[in-house]
Amino acid sequence: MYRSHNCGELRITDTDKEVTLAGWVQKSRDKGFMIWIDLRDRYGITQLIFDEARTDAAIMQHARTLGREFVIQVKGIVIERESKNSNIPTGEVEVLVKELSILNEAQLPPFTIEDETDGGEDLRMKYRYLDIRRNPVKNSLLFRHKITQEVRNYLSNLDFCEVETPYLIKSTPEGARDFVVPSRMNPGQFYALPQSPQTFKQLLMVGGLDKYFQIVKCFRDEDLRADRQPEFTQIDCEMSFIEQEDILSVFEGLTRHLLKTVHNIDITAFPRMSYEEAMRRYGNDKPDIRFGMEFGELNTVAQHKNFSVFNDAELVAGIAVPGAASYTRKQIDALTDWVKRPQVGASGMVYCKCELDGTFKSSVDKFYDQADLSRWAEVTGAQPGDLILVLSGSANKTRAQLSALRMELAHRLGLRKPDEFAPLWVTDFPLLEWDDETGRYHAMHHPFTSPKKEDMHLLDTDPGKVRANAYDLVLNGNEIGGGSIRIHDKETQSLMFKHLGFTADQAQEQFGFLLDAFQYGAPPHGGLAFGLDRLVAILGGQETIRDFIAFPKNNAGRDVMIDAPAAIDQTQLQELSLEVHIS
Ligand code: ASP
Repeated sequence: MYRSHNCGELRITDTDKEVTLAGWVQKSRDKGFMIWIDLRDRYGITQLIFDEARTDAAIMQHARTLGREFVIQVKGIVIERESKNSNIPTGEVEVLVKELSILNEAQLPPFTIEDETDGGEDLRMKYRYLDIRRNPVKNSLLFRHKITQEVRNYLSNLDFCEVETPYLIKSTPEGARDFVVPSRMNPGQFYALPQSPQTFKQLLMVGGLDKYFQIVKCFRDEDLRADRQPEFTQIDCEMSFIEQEDILSVFEGLTRHLLKTVHNIDITAFPRMSYEEAMRRYGNDKPDIRFGMEFGELNTVAQHKNFSVFNDAELVAGIAVPGAASYTRKQIDALTDWVKRPQVGASGMVYCKCELDGTFKSSVDKFYDQADLSRWAEVTGAQPGDLILVLSGSANKTRAQLSALRMELAHRLGLRKPDEFAPLWVTDFPLLEWDDETGRYHAMHHPFTSPKKEDMHLLDTDPGKVRANAYDLVLNGNEIGGGSIRIHDKETQSLMFKHLGFTADQAQEQFGFLLDAFQYGAPPHGGLAFGLDRLVAILGGQETIRDFIAFPKNNAGRDVMIDAPAAIDQTQLQELSLEVHIS
């Protein structure tokens, strides 16, 4: 028996018990006649004491050879501590050691195994197994486990059936780039790793499974942005004989359940907003509604006043920054520089201070009098003491830039409180999205999403205007899930492929299995997927997902611990009928 108790278990009521513990040496203090060692495992820390008066001299000596992170086993008696530590649950007792054995020695770790470590990100990733010994990472993994367990329980109780779909599938041109896997048995042919189990879960509905879910890895070979992982996990779901309302209600229920279990928070309202409204009010399809600073469209009040920058703009829009009228020239200049950075891309910024005495002071006083500026305040909802910041240009770009500014200011003003949770459904997404690069429309969600019936007639004349039965769940400005009601008949699906630029042959070759399946009695169906990594991070009150993933990749998509990706040897390449040329 390696242990009778774990290191987080012993209490004052265990006094006088003979116990066996095993774990890692967190730290030791040697006072000569006494040695204390903090013994750590997943469950906590228990103090060991070696005392000249009561411990064998040979064992005292042995204890002195222990280094940090040695794995040891001890036998001893639980005694009451003289100086208690109220910070840890085991802090009232210690174990007077009678026997000690070293189970494994350890080299000095490259960074300290403490809550606040001296290890940089790269080092921690390289020695991730040591990083996992630290409370913040360990607790994040335990937290993730709790969430997945709750998700499984919740959905299983509603009769959802968890099904595993294949990882070796076929590459499709839609969406992001696929990771591909060469097939040795089929020279020159490749599997692709799924970007999501989308078509499979739809086929499960054709198969009559009615309610499906899976906690599943998905793979996307995208250019990595900060905090994106090439492999990530989804809570993937699909339901038959449902309408959008049914799906929203199941997943509102799930989100509510998680917030209740994890934070004991009762969320009653899941407000809804159409995509169009979200873009107009927040310039963003995943608005953080924990704070205001909604957009005011100033075209009618700011144009035709001789200020050509505004007159020439498709959109003039502003936000009222609460209490910021007192910003100095220097602070405002810094904000102007911020919006002019290439990442944001604004060409300039206009401001208007709403002074406490009710007057206005703007950077464009030449063109606008007090009455004009008071209308700006009305439109943006600015109060005395607020600062109105205005951007202008093409509608899409201006909205994106002003949204970035709004989020940045909210961050600086401390308005994005991690312990406040504001979910929001965004609905009625456009079906199609124009892509400048390829010069054609792409499915905004995916090609299996159904168009709104009442917009179908626009498919030929004004495809960009067609709305889809698609929805996203947004939490605190992050998209945590998205889905749609699907197309379930061959005609509409073929029409959709046609509008996405597929010939009938290409559609048949790529998605023939689905088109075929739709001819054998496909039920109306729909679903959604939550991004588990992000969901867990947000519920855990954090913005980065990395610590909630046991073995994450770095920003360059590398696993620096196992050093992947890596070259493979010539024989392996030959077996796979591959040749590698690197230019
Ligand atoms: N498969 C979709 C995605 O990965 C989610 C869905 O439509 O259910 O975004």
